[in-house]
Amino acid sequence: MEFYLKRYDNSIILKDIIKTFSYLIGFEKVGFTKPVELHHEFNNLVNWLSLGYNASMSYLEKNLDKRRDIKLIMPDVRSVIVFAHSYFTNTSHDSDNFKVSRYAWGNDYHKVMFKKIKQVINMIKGYVTDLKYKIYIDTGPVLEKQWAVLSGIGWQGKNSLVLSKELGSYFFIGVLLTNIDFEPDLAIKEHCGSCTRCIDACPTKAIVKPKVIDSRRCISFWTIEKRIDENIPDEIDLKGWIFGCDICQEVCPWNKKARISSDKQFYPFRFGTNIKEEFIKNLSYEKFMEFTKNSPIRRSKYLGFLKNYYHILRNSNET
Ligand code: SF4
Ligand code: SF4
Repeated sequence: MEFYLKRYDNSIILKDIIKTFSYLIGFEKVGFTKPVELHHEFNNLVNWLSLGYNASMSYLEKNLDKRRDIKLIMPDVRSVIVFAHSYFTNTSHDSDNFKVSRYAWGNDYHKVMFKKIKQVINMIKGYVTDLKYKIYIDTGPVLEKQWAVLSGIGWQGKNSLVLSKELGSYFFIGVLLTNIDFEPDLAIKEHCGSCTRCIDACPTKAIVKPKVIDSRRCISFWTIEKRIDENIPDEIDLKGWIFGCDICQEVCPWNKKARISSDKQFYPFRFGTNIKEEFIKNLSYEKFMEFTKNSPIRRSKYLGFLKNYYHILRNSNET
């Protein structure tokens, strides 16, 4: 083993200490797995890309070899630790217009998750010398959802998101690669069964088959990820969503009993659950930058956000 335990208590193993500490700082689930090559998932990704389902997200075509083999990112990785943090608040949208996806109601999850995983790392350093690690929260060529499935956090639902019996799908995923050799947790069974509610409810028919999303039809893609030179196609009705879309999660039975987030930073304390039209109408670039400070909404960019607004107005004039 390449690391040395500075302190070791026979009654508690480091993995249990990590799990307990992580729960104490707000993570709801933590799973461990081995850094295996993701052949099956990689083939699915390549197939998905070949069908153009990534729309204009060309960054997903880069570093494919690293997405398959995580050792190309960190050669001495021995374990992959996956953290799940609920952002569910048991709150509904105020109205049908200018809705914001639940994940973006509060502070930017990248920063919150990163800070908490760093706390875990600092704790581990108390037990281990020569710790090597890397953290990924939607930030690199890492297939986070697949690692979450392998580590037993949940299963991949037909809406393509990771689902857990305790958390539903309203949770963030963070991945920590370490050079510590831990016992892996077991993956869990899929529990979608014969349900197809997410597929049936998607208003743009973006879920082309279980677990497969055609981003070119997905409201989340068009309201968050489109390039600044792209316009939302006329046939895509945003259904009042100005940032993101939660429809395929709202209908999922597992979200009816999702655990409420312990972190108030994910609560709708910034602007509520919807953006007020009066506010958007008078939104200057400066105001946008101020209002999206430390908010995931900044990802849509000022022009992209206004395009979403005008598209919703067009949709409502047509109905
Ligand atoms: S996010 Fe919305 S548009 Fe995209 S697949 Fe889910 S329901 Fe469909
Ligand atoms: S709505 Fe049904 S099919 Fe879709 S993810 Fe939830 S349980 Fe699975």
